[in-house]
Amino acid sequence: MEQHHYQYIYGPVTSWRLGKSLGIDPVSTDEKTCSFNCVYCQAGRTTVLTVERKVFVPTEALIRELRALPEMEIDSITFAGNGEPTLAKNLGEMIRAVRGIREEKIAVITNASLIDRKDVQEDLVLADLVEAKLDVCSADSLQKVNHPSAEIVWEAIVTGLKTFRKIYQGHLNLQIMFVAGNQADAADIARAALGIGADEIEINTPLRESPVKPLSPAEIGKVTDIFRSTCGTAVKVRSVYEEKREKSEPFCRRATERRRGKEPE
Ligand code: SF4
Repeated sequence: MEQHHYQYIYGPVTSWRLGKSLGIDPVSTDEKTCSFNCVYCQAGRTTVLTVERKVFVPTEALIRELRALPEMEIDSITFAGNGEPTLAKNLGEMIRAVRGIREEKIAVITNASLIDRKDVQEDLVLADLVEAKLDVCSADSLQKVNHPSAEIVWEAIVTGLKTFRKIYQGHLNLQIMFVAGNQADAADIARAALGIGADEIEINTPLRESPVKPLSPAEIGKVTDIFRSTCGTAVKVRSVYEEKREKSEPFCRRATERRRGKEPE
């Protein structure tokens, strides 16, 4: 039975990518705040479309909440939520503070829209794992699939990811969400992804509640084959339907559904 309502933390969420992971939402606004408004977003439409970095959650408040958490076994701690975590200006400070009180590996899931910025790179290098979005292979498809804030430039995302790869010693995953709008671009996206030099590429499709339909196992199978033949042995390619999916049992369902949408029945 739920005893508390948590403001900044949620989960743990069991995912095929991060194991049993406690979520931290460093933005945690009532209205969804993001630099993208992706067609498939499980958290609904973006209300505040912005690239402005600011402090949304004081680091001390997050740490207080984390200290109040009941004992639980988790594999990792993930900065994500229902907005873009790199919009939090104190992301680096938060990662350092969490590392000071927890031993688990720390991941950040980002849409990579600000990754060409030095201050964002300096924050992300502190994580053990960075999972970055790369759904498209051109400025036009970025508009079609991710509906970015006006300041975001497609080429800067690619350059930023390449620069970040050079300075980042941790594990860099690219996550590519396939829906009807980018399915035909799989070969071009695979070539763009290979050029980043990531450790892993994850092929996904929205299996949780989403405004758009997921691709079928056969369609994702074809996309995965394209990626594997393009990337060869240079980078491991994982695919959502090939992974074992487990249902999550969050300590606070309300806090978790607010960030992730509802699990399918
Ligand atoms: S999927 Fe992620 S990046 Fe896209 S709108 Fe939703 S929160 Fe933002």
